[in-house]
Amino acid sequence: MILVMFDMDGTLIDTQALITEHMAATFSGAGLEAPGPEESRRVIGLSLPVALGRLAKSDDTGLIERLVESYKSHYRASVVTDEGREGLFPGALAALERLRLWPDTQLGIATGKGLNGVHRILGLHGIEDYFVTLQTPDHNPSKPHPGMMYRAMSETGATAEQTVIVGDTTFDIEMGKAAGAKAIAVSWGYHETAELLEAGADAVIDRYEDLDAAIRTVLELSDA
Ligand SMILES: [Mg+2]
Repeated sequence: MILVMFDMDGTLIDTQALITEHMAATFSGAGLEAPGPEESRRVIGLSLPVALGRLAKSDDTGLIERLVESYKSHYRASVVTDEGREGLFPGALAALERLRLWPDTQLGIATGKGLNGVHRILGLHGIEDYFVTLQTPDHNPSKPHPGMMYRAMSETGATAEQTVIVGDTTFDIEMGKAAGAKAIAVSWGYHETAELLEAGADAVIDRYEDLDAAIRTVLELSDA
C-alpha cells in the first residue's frame, strides 16, 4: 500500500494571484494596511484564521474572525468571474493519472482550503474521484500540525512508512515529517527550495515528470 498526499495551492493548482488579491482587498476593506503579494504568498497553505492572523500580526480573535468573514465573501464573490484562474500546474493532471494506476496506491488531499472550495476545484478539473481522502481545516488543525496526515493514514490504513506528502511550503514538509511520513517538495510553489530542504524535505522536484521517480526513491520502492 502507498498513500500519496497532495497539497493544493502552489502544488496542484496555481492560485497565488487570486489569493494575494483577496488578501489585499480584505485588509483594505478593514481599513488596515494591505499586505504585499510576497507577504501574502508566504502564508498560503495555512488555514485562513492562522494565515490572516499572521498577516495582521495579531491574535485578536475578534479581528481575525472579521477578516476571515471578509476574505470568504471576497472569495465567494469571485468564484464565478474567476473561473479559469485556478488552473492545474503543468504536468499535474498527467502525474495524477499515472499515479492512480499504480498498484495498491491511494491519493489524498491535505490543504489549508475549506472543504467546499476543495470539492469545487476538484470538480472543476474533473479529478474529484482521484482522491480517497480529503483533509482540510474543517476537521483538522492548520498545517504544520500533523493531524491531517494522521487522519488520512487512519482513513486509508496506510502506515507512516507507506505515506508521502507532496507540497510547496515548509508547512507541508513539517506536517509530513511530524507524522513520520516522507515529504517531497515542489520547487514551483510559494516557498524557496533552500527553506524546504531545511524543513526536512526528502526530495525536491522541479517538474511533475520527476514525481514518480521521487516517490519510488523516498519510499524505497523497487523500480519494478
Ligand atoms: Mg501549498
